[in-house]
Amino acid sequence: MRILVTGGAGFIGSHLIDRLMEQGHEVLCLDNFYTGDKRNILKWIGHPYFELVRHDITEPIRLEVDQIYHLACPASPVHYQFNPVKTIKTNVLGTLYMLGLAKRVKARFFLASTSEVYGDPDVHPQHEEYRGNVNCTGLRACYDEGKRVAETLAFEYHREHGVDIRVVRIFNTYGPRMLENDGRVVSNFIVQALRGEPLTIYGDGSQTRSFCYVSDLVEGFIRLMNSDFIGPMNLGNPGEYTILELAEIIQGMINPTAELIFNPLPEDDPKKRQPDITRAKTYLGWEPTVPLFEGLELTIKDFRDRLKS
Ligand code: NAD
Ligand code: UDP
Repeated sequence: MRILVTGGAGFIGSHLIDRLMEQGHEVLCLDNFYTGDKRNILKWIGHPYFELVRHDITEPIRLEVDQIYHLACPASPVHYQFNPVKTIKTNVLGTLYMLGLAKRVKARFFLASTSEVYGDPDVHPQHEEYRGNVNCTGLRACYDEGKRVAETLAFEYHREHGVDIRVVRIFNTYGPRMLENDGRVVSNFIVQALRGEPLTIYGDGSQTRSFCYVSDLVEGFIRLMNSDFIGPMNLGNPGEYTILELAEIIQGMINPTAELIFNPLPEDDPKKRQPDITRAKTYLGWEPTVPLFEGLELTIKDFRDRLKS
């Protein structure tokens, strides 16, 4: 199959491309390199089944493909808040153009949505029927509301134009290839501990997140794309930790003498987050297999290697 991966040079996209290439597909990687890195896909450059397209999805593009995995969008609050209007354009215009492409060439369209559609949730754990609690004028809205519109666009292209869609809501995912300056909590704590700098906990660290290792997530993507279920579907690891617990785990694994410091909590930071993955278990027979400690070891090794070179 010819498969387009938008955001393919990014963290999750590049792991997805590895799996698709290993399965023998022809892969088009589309990226504007805002948070993506050519090194993530370097091993496929020159492969006859791989093509790299430098393009910004806020502009239309014509391609011939059978499936589209639509991931292009900065995922870290630091990066998506750097240029919020651009984040909205990427989510709204970018998704609109990709759905237009899917409609024209009759490709199956997969949207990488997010647990952020639930905002600061007042239902716990979050199941797909929950409609969320998003502040539409807050600092996170460019991303949260952008993804909510992206989901709406996907469902309307499905209902109105018969586009074959799959919608996944991704919960916090980590693993090798996260950028050193990504700004998300796992990469921040690992890089800080490796450099002997204090680990920066925002707030008192009592807020929770549930961390999924990237290979588990990619397995879920491929199962959903090739299933009959359109979604939305949560994919994430239900193992829930406070941010303070995470800091202590990473401190213990890398540098027990590293200092923990407490900085102000960013506006609208969700207080708790944990996926209800009953749907994924029921429809895909999917659940995560990599425990946090094991996934962190692999991620720490990757950062150690990169920081050395
Ligand atoms: P990432 O920032 O590493 O990757 C995003 C990629 O999209 C980058 O390569 C970037 O250059 C590219 N991109 C951004 N704007 C673009 C544009 N206008 N045109 C073309 N390319 C563009 O992030 P990631 O963690 O790999 O996330 C991938 C997708 O998964 C995103 O859609 C994100 O919203 C979603 N997601 C990720 C997580 C997570 O924990 N990693 C959680 C929820 C949702
Ligand atoms: N966080 C933190 N220190 C950091 C980076 C993040 O305490 O150096 C916190 C952040 O405030 C949030 C949690 O960790 O409560 C997860 O943040 P991240 O940016 O990774 O993801 P998101 O908030 O989008 O879930």
